[in-house]
Amino acid sequence: MPLVNAKEMLTKAKAGHYAVGQFNINNLEWTKAILLTAQELNSPVILGVSEGAGKYMCGYTTIVGMVNGMLNELNITVPVALHLDHGSYDGAKACIEAGFSSVMFDGSHYAIEENIAKTKELVAICEEKGLSLEAEVGSIGGEEDGVVGAGECADPDECKMIADLGVTMLAAGIGNIHGKYPENWAGLSFDTLEAISNKIGDMPLVLHGGTGIPEDMIKKAISLGVSKINVNTECQLAFAAATREYVEAGKDLQGKGFDPRKLLAPGFEAIKATVKEKMELFGSVDKA
Ligand SMILES: [Zn+2]
Repeated sequence: MPLVNAKEMLTKAKAGHYAVGQFNINNLEWTKAILLTAQELNSPVILGVSEGAGKYMCGYTTIVGMVNGMLNELNITVPVALHLDHGSYDGAKACIEAGFSSVMFDGSHYAIEENIAKTKELVAICEEKGLSLEAEVGSIGGEEDGVVGAGECADPDECKMIADLGVTMLAAGIGNIHGKYPENWAGLSFDTLEAISNKIGDMPLVLHGGTGIPEDMIKKAISLGVSKINVNTECQLAFAAATREYVEAGKDLQGKGFDPRKLLAPGFEAIKATVKEKMELFGSVDKA
């Protein structure tokens, strides 16, 4: 099945009180692990690409070629969206050109007026081309590709202003942060989430920084309207730990253990296990 935008899968998720996972990709192994797991679990999935990862993988057209090739070669029949994560205005336009099916425009660092103006332009382009568009209100703390923001809660009225522009889904800061959560983290602000949810009605909400949020908080967030959850760091940690174990056990020195197809296999399996765990937690299994 060719790439689809994220609108239908997220509308269904919101109505069905589950969430679709966005898993960020970094290379071929990452992409293959996520796609195969989604297919095995009959789950819709969103592949996330940050601008940094886009550069690393030799540009957006390379990524589109790789993902489309895999959908075909692996006979993937579940809905898959290819989504730009935290895109700049120019990055979003480049991904639309390259064949992505969904983009995020992160205008959270602009004043609300400029965020609105730029989001409006992208809404028109995405509508015309059939892509889904994610907007962000209130910066999400932690570090995302070098951009460091303090954890904050979005203003529900600003959320409503951006939602009314016709975006597909909205990322709003509710005390969540990117990367590992610090010991003294205060947790998600469900009051903020509820206030935003009440303002924006049916629009799917996106929870960034899904790594390390306790399971009960994830479930509660889904019950309050979160329909897309971004997972990035957790796959990286799982991949690194499995690779470390392989090397520390000296397996790369045994026989042909240095073969990259063997060396990268434990990390590949670790990503698959992480994605499976998340899809089960988010409730997207058998929702394709
Ligand atoms: Zn994010």
